[in-house]
Amino acid sequence: MNHQNTSTIWDVIVIGAGPAGLMAAGRAAERGKSVLLLEKNPYIGKKLLITGGGGCNVTNNKPEVQQLVNSYKGSPKALYSVFSQFDVTNTLEFFHNKGMPTKLEAEGRIFPESNKAQSVWNVLNEYITTNKVTLKTNAVVTGITLNEDKTFKIKLVNDAVVGKACIVATGGTSHPETGSTGDGFKWLKQLGHTINPNSFSLVPIALKETWVKDVSGIALEDAVIRVYLDGKRQAHKQGKILFTHFGLSGPAVLNLSSQIGELLQYGNVSLEIDLLPQYDNGMLKTELFNVLTTDINKKIKNTLNNLIASGLVLTVLKLANVDTDKANNSITKEERLRLAQILKAIPANVKHLLGADKAIVSSGGVDINEVDFKTMQSRLIPNLYIIGDLLDIDRPSGGYSLQLCWSMGMVSGGLFKSCKLRYF
Ligand SMILES: Cc1cc2nc3c(=O)[nH]c(=O)nc-3n(C[C@H](O)[C@H](O)[C@H](O)COP(=O)(O)OP(=O)(O)OC[C@H]3O[C@@H](n4cnc5c(N)ncnc54)[C@H](O)[C@@H]3O)c2cc1C
Repeated sequence: MNHQNTSTIWDVIVIGAGPAGLMAAGRAAERGKSVLLLEKNPYIGKKLLITGGGGCNVTNNKPEVQQLVNSYKGSPKALYSVFSQFDVTNTLEFFHNKGMPTKLEAEGRIFPESNKAQSVWNVLNEYITTNKVTLKTNAVVTGITLNEDKTFKIKLVNDAVVGKACIVATGGTSHPETGSTGDGFKWLKQLGHTINPNSFSLVPIALKETWVKDVSGIALEDAVIRVYLDGKRQAHKQGKILFTHFGLSGPAVLNLSSQIGELLQYGNVSLEIDLLPQYDNGMLKTELFNVLTTDINKKIKNTLNNLIASGLVLTVLKLANVDTDKANNSITKEERLRLAQILKAIPANVKHLLGADKAIVSSGGVDINEVDFKTMQSRLIPNLYIIGDLLDIDRPSGGYSLQLCWSMGMVSGGLFKSCKLRYF
């Protein structure tokens, strides 16, 4: 079929070849529909390839729908409709059946066994290819209008295409270099949808301290971050953290970022980073004493890596004001106590949150009350479907964003377990 011909009427036109659009296009084509998938980048799934640090956290191990829904802020009821049709188990079956085994990691995070986002990309690429989706890359959509006969005219830079149904999957506004520049919001607003404004969600944090640059790139699997407003404790999170050249990132930090963003409006926000949450203060003092007395002639800087990542040792000693060249047997009791204190609570001050462009997900977007989650169809315009990051759903880090894409993609593509076919 020649997609450049406006006399061709596609059953479905999907705009945006991210995880949500790919799933939707593949599913609609699998059901025998003629599907045109439009992507403005030269290739599909650009953001998908950088997910999970290139490892792609595909989903989270929440087989119960109720449990899964409860993981999203406010447990939006609408999510039952979409997850009860395609849940975490269905997602895993989908990828496993297509030759991509997965593995379970801390906090229920599920990754491809290969540890590569490319494996997920390969499955989706194969899914749209096998089902004969017509893919047009370098296709920049500039607008959507409704024809009199209720078909959709999708305008491209020098072209236009027509479809009986349109699935909009152009993503949000985070990491715009991947193609997610918020284009869909403009069109959907023009079509009458309410776009809730962006707010903070899953954004890395910049710190005032410059020492973070020295430890940039170090990831800790299990740390605790405590958050204070003008010295008063507000929140804490345990989990993976990542030191970056500007401050902190990683799931535990990202999951605190929306709260930190709000607190910043009211005063000074400071943090404590507990490098060794497995020890309480008393246990740590004992452990430190044991470590230092095991090899008394060794230098402290060559010993502390028995407790913490070696890349952190010099910074921690500097912060505790302990001479890095001292031998273990000349460390004073005061120095040992200072060290124990720093290991349990490195102080840091939040400068600001990084911009929405560096967010993992940008919150805000199409108001979910305007979409029927049984089908992902707009409640305002029949046969218009809205999926993925375009929707205003606040979710934590941990595979929950992609799970939304898989479920919404499948449902909008025509997986109707619970309701009759409503389009084409
Ligand atoms: C660094 C990073 C790491 C992440 N890691 C994880 C993770 O491990 N697990 C997880 O669950 N989530 C993760 N996320 C979030 C996840 O990537 C997003 O939720 C997901 O990509 C959203 O998918 P989408 O299909 O809605 O949109 P997108 O992935 O943003 O795709 C939208 C597509 O639409 C195209 N498009 C936009 N405008 C137009 C136009 N005008 N014409 C044609 N095409 C257009 C874009 O080029 C893009 O390809 C991460 C996000 C980031 C930024």
